[in-house]
Amino acid sequence: MIEITGVEVRPSLINRNGVFALRAFQVGEIVLKWDLSICIPKSEVNKVPDPERAYLHPCDEDSFIQMQMPFRYVNHSCVHNTEVREFCDIAIRYIEIGEEITSNYESDGAGQTFMCGCGSAKCRGMIGLK
Ligand SMILES: [Zn+2]
Repeated sequence: MIEITGVEVRPSLINRNGVFALRAFQVGEIVLKWDLSICIPKSEVNKVPDPERAYLHPCDEDSFIQMQMPFRYVNHSCVHNTEVREFCDIAIRYIEIGEEITSNYESDGAGQTFMCGCGSAKCRGMIGLK
C-alpha cells in the first residue's frame, strides 16, 4: 500500500471526481506515484467488469495496471499540469493548493478516445483520434 499525501479526491467539474492538490507542487516534483500492485494479464482483461475496464492502463506488452484510488480519478485536461513519466504523475508547472491535478491522456499511452470536458479555452474536443 502506497501512502498518498498531498492530494485528495473531490467532486470535479471535468468528470464527477477529480484529484486536487492539498499543497503546492514545484515543477518536476512527483505528485502521484502510481500503485502498480494490481496488474492484469491481457488474456484476463475480458474478465474485468465493464466500469472497471475504463481504469486499465497499459503496463507492458502483456499486461495492464488496474488503476487504484486516487490515481484513477486524475482527469484529462487540454491544459494539464502533470505528465506521466515511469508510472508517476510529474508536475510540469507550479501547482497551487486546491488546483485539480490533470494529465494529458493523449500522451500517457492509454489510447482512449473520448470527448473532453475540461472546459478550457484551448480544449481540443475529441481526444485520442490521432
Ligand atoms: Zn479539453
